[in-house]
Amino acid sequence: MEWFDTHAHLYAEDFGSEQAELVKRAEAASVTRIVTQGVNEETNRLTIQYAEKFPTVFAAVGWQPTDLDLLKGATELSAAQLAELKEQALHPKTVAIGEIGLDYFRLPRRETERTEAIKIQQRNVFRQQLELAAELDLPCCIHQRGEGTLQDCLEILRPFTGKLRAVFHCFVGSEEEARTFFELGHIISITGIVTFKKAEELRETLRLLPSEKMMVETDSPYLAPEPFFRRRCEPAYVVHTGARLAGILGISPEEFARQTCYTARKFFKKLT
Ligand SMILES: [Zn+2]
Repeated sequence: MEWFDTHAHLYAEDFGSEQAELVKRAEAASVTRIVTQGVNEETNRLTIQYAEKFPTVFAAVGWQPTDLDLLKGATELSAAQLAELKEQALHPKTVAIGEIGLDYFRLPRRETERTEAIKIQQRNVFRQQLELAAELDLPCCIHQRGEGTLQDCLEILRPFTGKLRAVFHCFVGSEEEARTFFELGHIISITGIVTFKKAEELRETLRLLPSEKMMVETDSPYLAPEPFFRRRCEPAYVVHTGARLAGILGISPEEFARQTCYTARKFFKKLT
């Protein structure tokens, strides 16, 4: 049996320089692929380095919406930033553009003008990266959080329907939301949240959805599944999320592991 962790942040400060150990422990737990997701210029470079260093590590490169203060007020990615992203995206071990998307969760709500400027910047950068993904025929890993992001995300994605496939990472939405994603040709990915005591509603939702449209991920170092709740999460733990989710869906862990790896290989075409 093998599992893939389709979304991790191996360069996170919490991991220090333990990357080799993380990869080793993941392999020992039968986690045979880790897709590490960059979020800005520096972490995209690190992501590529780890992908080059470790055979089981693959890269996703992108600019996350919550890191755009690094653009120092620019309303979109510069030509140089886009050129570097493209070069990284063309790397043989880069399997996706991610993590990208929209996040209105922590906007300065009382400053209407600034809030609007941040939203415009996020939407521009998101669109620029979707265009790159479509051009290079790479899938996208989408982060979408906060009021209004679902609607805005779908509006930006809609013109790309049929030209682009995306995964909505860390899915915690409703059945209706998931079905909308599926209709547009996208899939969802589930983190350790599904194991949390308070996540009964999410478990109920997932029971209603087709398991072949799901992947599993850690989003490590965040969101450790039970029995590691509130501890530092690492790629090896995806096994716990996968096994628990299999139980929720009423299929064996072996069958679900096989299915999610198949889905991941089909989704990330360059994931060998
Ligand atoms: Zn993430």
